[in-house]
Amino acid sequence: MRSVEIFKIGKAYPNPYGEPFRAVVDFSLNIDQGEFVGLIGHSGCGKSTVLTMLAGLNEISEGGIVVSGREIDGAGPDRAVVFQSPCLMPWSTAYGNVMLGVKNVYPHASRAERSQIVESALSSVGLADSMEKYPREMSGGMQQRVGIARAIALKPKLLLLDEPFGRLDSLTRMELQDVMLDILNREKITTLLVSHDVDEVVFLCDRVVMMTNGPEATIGEVLAIDFERPRDRTEILQDPLYFRCLDHLVSFLTERAHLRTEPRIHDSSNLLTFEGTKPEVAAH
Ligand code: ADP
Repeated sequence: MRSVEIFKIGKAYPNPYGEPFRAVVDFSLNIDQGEFVGLIGHSGCGKSTVLTMLAGLNEISEGGIVVSGREIDGAGPDRAVVFQSPCLMPWSTAYGNVMLGVKNVYPHASRAERSQIVESALSSVGLADSMEKYPREMSGGMQQRVGIARAIALKPKLLLLDEPFGRLDSLTRMELQDVMLDILNREKITTLLVSHDVDEVVFLCDRVVMMTNGPEATIGEVLAIDFERPRDRTEILQDPLYFRCLDHLVSFLTERAHLRTEPRIHDSSNLLTFEGTKPEVAAH
């Protein structure tokens, strides 16, 4: 079932002379219910522009976006965003920070129901024992767990992740990637992840959308990642398919991101092996 339909969206920012700078053009993508899609591209190509238009935080210049059958017009509780920095309220505990959004989104729920939503969200990110901690008492990884709990507590139709693990050390990043996978396996929330990290998108995502360089950035290629779920990091890291996917993404970024072609759709099981024993299939 379709969860998100993006029709030919574009964004033009005014440049210092007041003329339009077309950052993103003609970006079209459908995302299925429960699908986890990664969005990669060079820095400055327009990934955050696409994500913030989906969040309703950035006006869409051309085209439109439909989420769960309804065209979006501004921000709404059907979409939740996790940014690189969680921006928690420093005067409020982990519990209080998550409760803030829950109160807005469930104004008619009882106090006990709201409390149950907050506690369950914090437990699912591994913070059951730290609900009363203030941001200053938490590490960066714990604060980002609160940011994730705050987003999933709203039970969004679309979860938007803007490099949420980008500022964390590599061990904490891996822990949080596993937390995210556990949550998405259980709750099947449709998710778009903007990332710089090719390893991360191959491990986490069902499909990776590769953006061309800007200006006038758009979709260059899409790669379906054929690992089954639930995913096991050790098994995936030993699978030659993982390295073929990485190789494909890196070769797009280094060799093809500047090209202007129709979007090319690939399935990871059809990618060339390093020995070249399987033919590459590119469907338009
Ligand atoms: P990415 O997330 O891939 O790094 P962005 O979406 O942040 O890229 O930016 C895409 C392009 O749009 C860049 O050239 C950037 O300078 C420009 N841009 C982003 N936000 C604005 C803005 N508010 N005003 C003008 N130009 C912007």
